[in-house]
Amino acid sequence: MGWTHSTDTETHEMWIRPEFVDGIGTSASTVREGVTMVGVGDQSWRPAGEVVAWRVVCDCEHQTQVMDPTRSQWVSSNQWVRVPSPSLEDVAAGRIFADDDATPDIGDRDEVADAAKAIWRRHHIRLVDVDEEISLALAAHRAAAVAIDVAITRGRRAGRTWEQIGRVAGMSAPGANSRWKERIESPAVADVVDELDAMITDLDGQVITAAERVGLSSIYQLATRANNGHRPSIADVLTMAARLRPAPNE
Ligand SMILES: [Zn+2]
Repeated sequence: MGWTHSTDTETHEMWIRPEFVDGIGTSASTVREGVTMVGVGDQSWRPAGEVVAWRVVCDCEHQTQVMDPTRSQWVSSNQWVRVPSPSLEDVAAGRIFADDDATPDIGDRDEVADAAKAIWRRHHIRLVDVDEEISLALAAHRAAAVAIDVAITRGRRAGRTWEQIGRVAGMSAPGANSRWKERIESPAVADVVDELDAMITDLDGQVITAAERVGLSSIYQLATRANNGHRPSIADVLTMAARLRPAPNE
């Protein structure tokens, strides 16, 4: 059993902990003389029949650059109480029926696993990811600003007047001119446009829509940043694009 979630610096492993009236179990189990036993620390066991509840637990490891990783444990405040009959079971309401054999591996049941993962994500992992989310959003914000510069540079190269650009941007010709003229004349922006154009040309045969160009431009910025300021390869950009897209099963 165990589900993991990793960021650049953290690893989280979730599991479902069996609990007794007077103590907690481990993820280990064994069978002794036909009786299913649940681990309670090193090499100690109690009969699975004594399990009265389960709880979602996460073993968290934070990687630091100078020292050994720091370890901590998160324990959900939600508890599933073990009920004596299948008719009393309601996983969403915190009631689970399990015979003794099924008690140690309750997470093998899809319904329980899904509920456990939902609790883990909602109350723990979502908060773990928040720092990464802030940093990615700020990077995306800066990347979007560059994407605007890139698009306007393209417009100017295609012969658009400031009046035409201003109309699209909802401002006057002098307004558009004073806002972007200096920015798009900087060599840095010109380089990015050249590199993106080279990249788009290399994706030969594919029709790149305006929305995709903006996306590519933003992701290019993020990939450049991830690459310590050096020009990323097309493969790096496409890998990052795939990573930023939500996975189908999430
Ligand atoms: Zn954790």
